[in-house]
Amino acid sequence: MKNEIQDRPLLYQSMLEISDLYVDFSVLNGTIHALQGVSLTVEAGKTLAIVGESGCGKSVTAQAIMGLIPVVGGRITKGSIRFGGQTVYANDDTKLQKKEWAGKQIAMIFQDPMNGLNPTLTIGEQIAEPLVVHKGLSKSEGQKIAIELLDKVRIADAKLRIKQYPFEFSGGMLQRVMIAMSLASEPKLLIADEPTTALDTTVQNQILSLLAEIQREQSMALMIITHDLGVVAKMADQVAVMYGGRVVERGLSDRILASPGHPYMQGLKEAMPNLKKAEPLTAIAGTPPDLSKLYSSCSFAPRCRYGMKVCVERIPPLFSVRDQHTSACWLHHDAAPANPLVLDVPHD
Ligand code: SF4
Repeated sequence: MKNEIQDRPLLYQSMLEISDLYVDFSVLNGTIHALQGVSLTVEAGKTLAIVGESGCGKSVTAQAIMGLIPVVGGRITKGSIRFGGQTVYANDDTKLQKKEWAGKQIAMIFQDPMNGLNPTLTIGEQIAEPLVVHKGLSKSEGQKIAIELLDKVRIADAKLRIKQYPFEFSGGMLQRVMIAMSLASEPKLLIADEPTTALDTTVQNQILSLLAEIQREQSMALMIITHDLGVVAKMADQVAVMYGGRVVERGLSDRILASPGHPYMQGLKEAMPNLKKAEPLTAIAGTPPDLSKLYSSCSFAPRCRYGMKVCVERIPPLFSVRDQHTSACWLHHDAAPANPLVLDVPHD
């Protein structure tokens, strides 16, 4: 399902470049530093999976790209976002050019398709609306394309289905509708935020296969946000692992899944259920970091099985693990001990 992986620099042909992005949210008793210096790239026609547990900043990264950070309470405080070589946001008060590209060149689908659909409008009206508004098509032209798009995402009886309302569709069908809606603008990048989490396994596989097929046909880049390493293995060319509002590991998917460099990613891999062996599941001990703090050390240190003095003194930068694979862990520093002290971190 994955595109052919070629050895080339990660920044080659970057369609989307996020550099050193910081996002804060004001809450009643302080500030949540949701992103703390995120940098990543998505290449044209390729799939990047963003992986991490809830609250690590995956969805906030997508919101920032789409210009969906709430105006009240949310703020990009530093960094830049470039798309197709143009600056979308920079820390020089360049305004988000949201109207110019969000929903046109970049589209997004969400975990719960019901939230993205209006229950009072027919499916046809909802697919056709952006075509009428953004492309100036007539309503009948919009409906005609809506039928073609439903055909494309394999919804049978499309002519009949466009006249129906969201409650008349199953969860898997609604996700197909969301994909059809996102394709209406012929985006160059599709962001899929946990697109299959709410679906059962067989429907999940159908939706992932559909996304991969459409991506190939349209040479579209795909950013898929997930906590499921099975989805990563199936779909991603590249992976960015997030923890505590930072990217802590990134590179080619096959390399990272085969041999993760960051103890957090090692823990995620060990926590994956193995249906072939009836072994007890291993969870990562402890809780996610408190994002009301700006960390000056490794935020994974309280949960990490390795113990080095530097871990609690300085934030690890991304070190090269091998070609096309970097990890923000002091274990990969040239001066790191070959056999670091292994702490007795209890596992749940
Ligand atoms: Fe663990 Fe230290 Fe690496 Fe952080 S930097 S993940 S505490 S070994």
